[in-house]
Amino acid sequence: MENIAERKNERQTAKVPPPDSAPSDFIRAIIIEDLKTNKYGGRVHTRFPPEPNGYLHIGHAKSICLNFGIATEFGGLYNLRFDDTNPSKEDVEYVESIQEDVRWLGFDWEDRLFYASDYFEQLYEYAVQLIKKGKAYVCDLSTDEIRQYRGTLTQPGKDSPYRNRSVEENLNLFERMRAGEFPDGSRVLRARIDMASPNLNLRDPVMYRILHAEHHRTGNKWCIYPTYDFAHGQCDSIEGITHSICTLEFEDHRPLYDWYLDALNIYHPRQIEFARLNLSYTVLSKRKLLRLVQEGHVTGWDDPRMPTLSGLRRRGYTPEAIQNFSERIGVAKSNSILDIALLEHCLREDLNRRAPRVMAVLRPLRVVIDNYPEGQVEELEAINNPEDVSMGTRQVPFSRVLYIEREDFREEPPPKYYRLAPGREVRLRYAYFIRCVGVVKDKQTGEVVELHCTYDPATRGGDAPDGRKVKATLHWVSAAHALQAEARLYDRLFLQANPNDVPEGADFKSTLNPNSLETLTACRVEPSLAGAAPGSRYQFERQGYFCVDPDSSKGKLVFNRTVSLRDTWAKIEKAQTS
Ligand code: ATP
Ligand code: MG
Repeated sequence: MENIAERKNERQTAKVPPPDSAPSDFIRAIIIEDLKTNKYGGRVHTRFPPEPNGYLHIGHAKSICLNFGIATEFGGLYNLRFDDTNPSKEDVEYVESIQEDVRWLGFDWEDRLFYASDYFEQLYEYAVQLIKKGKAYVCDLSTDEIRQYRGTLTQPGKDSPYRNRSVEENLNLFERMRAGEFPDGSRVLRARIDMASPNLNLRDPVMYRILHAEHHRTGNKWCIYPTYDFAHGQCDSIEGITHSICTLEFEDHRPLYDWYLDALNIYHPRQIEFARLNLSYTVLSKRKLLRLVQEGHVTGWDDPRMPTLSGLRRRGYTPEAIQNFSERIGVAKSNSILDIALLEHCLREDLNRRAPRVMAVLRPLRVVIDNYPEGQVEELEAINNPEDVSMGTRQVPFSRVLYIEREDFREEPPPKYYRLAPGREVRLRYAYFIRCVGVVKDKQTGEVVELHCTYDPATRGGDAPDGRKVKATLHWVSAAHALQAEARLYDRLFLQANPNDVPEGADFKSTLNPNSLETLTACRVEPSLAGAAPGSRYQFERQGYFCVDPDSSKGKLVFNRTVSLRDTWAKIEKAQTS
């Protein structure tokens, strides 16, 4: 089995960057050094090892971009490997979604898709070898007893009474564990290391546990499953991984990672740890995300408020924005919480370049242009993307009855409010100057229900020949031509920057934002959006970026607000530099 990886590596030739290019982070520095010393025969081979017990989130994306990005940069290879050693929590639904998400992010693992379960037989063999070397034993202590015997950070552990079983007895018991003779939890296989080690991970860690559970790939073939620690390094070794990049919480496991490989005397990759990504107003723990799904706080793993890749995709995020974000944040050696505004900033940058502009009115207010001929329609030319002329122009119909945004009119405008008000003139984008000459109100509620305006035919296209200026340009749609649409406006899912920072006894869910979703059902969008496919992204002028949701049907478009136009990160940066 060791040869699979070596064969697959034949195609690979690593490029060493020129000596004067400074590595951008400590991981790349290590790799450059290893290439110089020819440590792995000039190879770079990384992997991304998700456990299929949930959907991937933005933290995983960081890890994918790092692992796969590094391999690509150095002309190496990367594997996608499912760490499927715990059948009780895993599911094919997750296996499939993970592959879809990695592909969507832009990475192709070619034929290098592996499963830890591919190696169960080999891992079993390795365990037998350790037993034969006197380095592993079957222990009959219960889980609780094992914990009690382990000791604490300040107190050494105690040897298990089963620690000195003979090799023969251990082999016999381990074989019978595999054969299904013992119930769950009755025995484990443990590494025989050092119960007094200052590193708790080395106090005879569990290698195999009994679990009579059906595995999504191996079915009922196995009733003993290796622990993460016993499986991971050996899988890396089998696949010929050179640099096994993982998050900081595994730093204390590295001596164990090394111990197994040394004890087995097999090919030895190097584990390197970096700080996991934490984002403000976000939880990035699959366990917590699963609770949000199961307890109905969101509509599913792909709810657009979720930090999962499927949620971000549905929300309208682009893979490019996520990749760019991952690069920009770099690699750190200590944990911190990153401002989610930076992620949104990367998204805006990308969408600004690529999203076509359209006009959409979220909260419509009816406007009648009194002096515009009844029944007349003009097609006005609108620019699709001022950032990219190659995206061309489109026609937008103008007619006597329009909708504008309710918040673009104030009957009594406060100071500095330059938009429409009684008697005031504003510009309609791509169209004409209009002046408000009348306000119709609901008799009962006093609510403004319609405006009457006049237009100046000489201002067609948006400029007055006499040079008179207006202070505001509003977006609008023609009432007879507009399509009705629903818009889902999202706010942060949590009210606190650190949702995990709650008082004793409270739960992260106590910081959920009760107003994280606002649904507007009476929006009007310009007719060019007819038939827009789910996943299409637009900038609604003056409103933000929006993406067509899969809930859209033939007669009804549903849009998710991906992100507003206001860039808080740009402000933060400005404040930092001034
Ligand atoms: P979670 O805490 O969300 O359950 P996990 O680490 O248990 O995540 P895995 O499926 O084991 O989930 O993760 C696969 C890989 O992704 C691991 O190498 C892990 O280190 C990495 N990873 C997970 N979360 C993050 C994160 N927030 N930032 C960077 N890398 C991460
Ligand atoms: Mg994990």
